Amino acid sequence: MTKSNHFTSLLFYCALFLPVKSFADVGDIAQKTALYAQETYQDEMIESLRQLIAFNTVAVAGLPSPKNPEHQQFKAELAKQAQHLGLDFIDYGYVVVIGLGDSKERVGMITHGDIQPFNANKWQQSPLKLDQNSEPGKLIGRGTEDDKGPITNALYAMKSIKDLKIKLKKRIELYVYMAEESDWQPLREHIKQHSLPQVNITLDAEYPVVTAEKGYGTISMTFPKTQENSRFSARALSNQTYISEFTGGFFGSQIPEDAHVTINNASEALLEKIKQVAKSHLGMHYSYQWQGTQLSINALGKSAHSSKPEYGTNAITHLADLLSVKQWPNNTSGALVNFLNDHLGTGLYGEKFGAIAYSDEFMGPMSVQPTVLKAKEDGMQLNINIRRPRGKTTKQLAIEINATIAKWQQKNQVTLIDMNNDINEPFVQTNAPQIDTLVEVFSLYTGIKEAKPISIGGGTNSRLFPNAVSFGPSMPGTAYTGHSEHEFITKEQFILNLKMYTAVLVELAK
Ligand SMILES: [Zn+2]
Repeated sequence: MTKSNHFTSLLFYCALFLPVKSFADVGDIAQKTALYAQETYQDEMIESLRQLIAFNTVAVAGLPSPKNPEHQQFKAELAKQAQHLGLDFIDYGYVVVIGLGDSKERVGMITHGDIQPFNANKWQQSPLKLDQNSEPGKLIGRGTEDDKGPITNALYAMKSIKDLKIKLKKRIELYVYMAEESDWQPLREHIKQHSLPQVNITLDAEYPVVTAEKGYGTISMTFPKTQENSRFSARALSNQTYISEFTGGFFGSQIPEDAHVTINNASEALLEKIKQVAKSHLGMHYSYQWQGTQLSINALGKSAHSSKPEYGTNAITHLADLLSVKQWPNNTSGALVNFLNDHLGTGLYGEKFGAIAYSDEFMGPMSVQPTVLKAKEDGMQLNINIRRPRGKTTKQLAIEINATIAKWQQKNQVTLIDMNNDINEPFVQTNAPQIDTLVEVFSLYTGIKEAKPISIGGGTNSRLFPNAVSFGPSMPGTAYTGHSEHEFITKEQFILNLKMYTAVLVELAK
């Protein structure tokens, strides 16, 4: 052995004894239980998920969850499964708690049983039927990732711990909230009246561990209906090229994949200009129809969770951009398109919206995305979804938003109605004792070393629970499919989640 070789091998042995974190930090019992869960419950867990996604637990306006028959049936199914698994079950109305053990010290898992709306035409099979065939390896259906898949994982993690009679110092509680996607107030009320677990993990976002979440916000305004006698009425515009209709979007937290425009008195020359712009729109598909001199364009982009606009292609902003070849007469739809082009554009982060754009080193940039247009009695309502990091006060943001809108109105001689900013605070968790455990379990089972806490654009119920951080279910760097029209979880991820949740629960409750 030469000297240098000897030196190299000495370095190697020294490295072995450096105090690096080793995965022995995840105990044997935790690892054994996780393995047992994987080997025992794969098929049963998929059956459980199949049952849970069959219920259309979308929120119905004006019908509280405890009175919604579909929600009641879903909870009855949950109760049946809990009983079958030997777990206790308490129904508080909006909140269901499924438990194991009876210590006062508790570990909580936070999930939700409601879902976002879906457009069934866009799915290969009904999104309420678990589809394992269309794309082998994937479990496709509404709620598979957000958030019924994690509920099933949690149930079988608890069951595995029970089967192996693991001695727990803490009770484990699975919270299933029934209005996470629509209304957090009933959960706030519940929390006022009940004590919560001292340590919590939310199974509704991504790995390795989420310690910060942007604040959710909606900027809305209505472009007023054009009056019969105004200079923008159909009669007054009869000799001009104008936009008679512009629609798009589905719901507030989905990057829209559909938009539609109708242009009256259009010309071939205009269409040529539009098609020129279309060439630069990657990921968009347009179809054009003529009816006399009326030109209609359908835009198809790609839906995504609005907290991750990078994974989608916004049909509303892109279609508006196609129309940026000219300034339009300011009737209802024309004013709307002009505003979209003046202050949204195809960027994701509010770059054109006056001074509002900003970014935080850890939390990233604020996203600013129009998501849905709603036809109202008095005009067309534009809803812009924002996700804001720390770094600006809500008041400052509101001032900046209002200043831009005011200036635009003045310049365009348009008076918008029902302007409203509803902007929530970002959430930063600074005090959660379980973070190291979560990171260690994640690294052990994924092989991803150097995992660190992250910040996300989505908002979860973490902020309402003590010492709560998110842990899964989706992997960092993969497209999150919840809220999209192609929601799935891979079978591999589904099983991996079971293992990680099982190990984490053993570690936190033992
Ligand atoms: Zn969710």
